[in-house]
Amino acid sequence: MSHPLHNLDFASMYDLEIKHGPDSGGHFGKFGGRFAAETLMQPLKEIEDAFYEAWADPAFHEERLDLLKNYVGRATPLYHAKHLSAEVGGAQIYLKREDLNHTGAHKVNNTIGQALLARRMGKKKVIAETGAGQHGVATATVAAMFNMECNIYMGREDIRRQAPNVFRMKLLGANVIAVDSGTATLKDAVNEALRVWVASCEDTYYIFGTAAGPHPFPLMVRQFHTVIGQEARTQCLDQTGRLPDVAVACVGGGSNAIGLLHPFYDDSEVRLVAVEAGGHGLDGNEHAASLAAGKPGIIHGSLSYLLEDAEGQINGTHSISAGLDYPGVGPELAAMLEDGRLQLDAATDDQALDAFKTLTRCEGIIPALESSHAVAAGIRIAADMKPEQTVLINLSGRGDKDMGTVFELLGDDIDKETGGDQA
Ligand SMILES: *Cc1c(COP(=O)(O)O)cnc(C)c1O
Repeated sequence: MSHPLHNLDFASMYDLEIKHGPDSGGHFGKFGGRFAAETLMQPLKEIEDAFYEAWADPAFHEERLDLLKNYVGRATPLYHAKHLSAEVGGAQIYLKREDLNHTGAHKVNNTIGQALLARRMGKKKVIAETGAGQHGVATATVAAMFNMECNIYMGREDIRRQAPNVFRMKLLGANVIAVDSGTATLKDAVNEALRVWVASCEDTYYIFGTAAGPHPFPLMVRQFHTVIGQEARTQCLDQTGRLPDVAVACVGGGSNAIGLLHPFYDDSEVRLVAVEAGGHGLDGNEHAASLAAGKPGIIHGSLSYLLEDAEGQINGTHSISAGLDYPGVGPELAAMLEDGRLQLDAATDDQALDAFKTLTRCEGIIPALESSHAVAAGIRIAADMKPEQTVLINLSGRGDKDMGTVFELLGDDIDKETGGDQA
């Protein structure tokens, strides 16, 4: 059978079959599902039905893939980081350049897909939660392009910490709504967005930001992000003649990781590695690594690993990279960890910062601090491997948004190294 999108030549590398989907209740192994108030069940079911119907329609993919190509800039390159590989002295390191996407990270793959679905369902408004503001910006961007009203829920504490992204969302025409409940951070923004959505789902679509939450979000967000791994798989075969030995991605809620790793699920020779923010943070707080230290529990409508304190309250998380500060993780990654397909790794704030500097200096690529965690682990893994082997690292985003944080942490050191300002 010819490819259903034969008139989009570049689309032939995308496999549109849904592989390893969840069961009809949205379970990946024992994880996932739909644990939500009765009033949420119907709108979630409507999204599920609309998603399966859209996914089976070539016209949906034609528009989606056309936007991914001409608006987002896909396919993103696969870059052989020769200088970094030489510096590390082990395996060859390849970077999947999601940092080159429009808006600077992988998140727009998902917001384009869900905004198209919203329009197809006849919804005029979209809402979303955001923590660091990246998903808020990616949502406000597509809302501007599709001319949809857009409300972004954001913890008041995050609004304070992420002023540039808040301004970006406003420039794009979105309303940013402060959430004061709980710790006034991401988990509270999700709860508030879900609450508002129940009351407004008649005309409003909720664009969820990561591969977590109640069914069908983990499946849907994964499907919109598998372009990452499908491209990388083809590009690896083209450039090296074989699959990578290891594929590595950082994990907040899990969307860039599942997007990169899922297309390699059946390639048992490829080691799949997820990297959490781990250890002691630079702020002295213990990091929250949901997969490594969490326990099975229900968060935001789905059963997965999450961080709770002794009273069963969801713990706040701390990392220099705000995008990894999610106290839960997507159910499919939890299931892959449980069945042994996924290996877990961690990088501390210090290790991520080191990797940030190394990549910037060796290759002239300034990564996001989230992605720097994957680079740190990828470097460590590559160092113990042979030069003919390959490590594929997902560079989920670019570091522009992190300049303020990095300036505070490294500004003085860099000034000394470069001899300060020279008149
Ligand atoms: C949001 C973000 C992440 C973490 O989110 P996931 O859903 O786990 O991918 C990682 N990297 C970047 C650049 C981000 O913006």
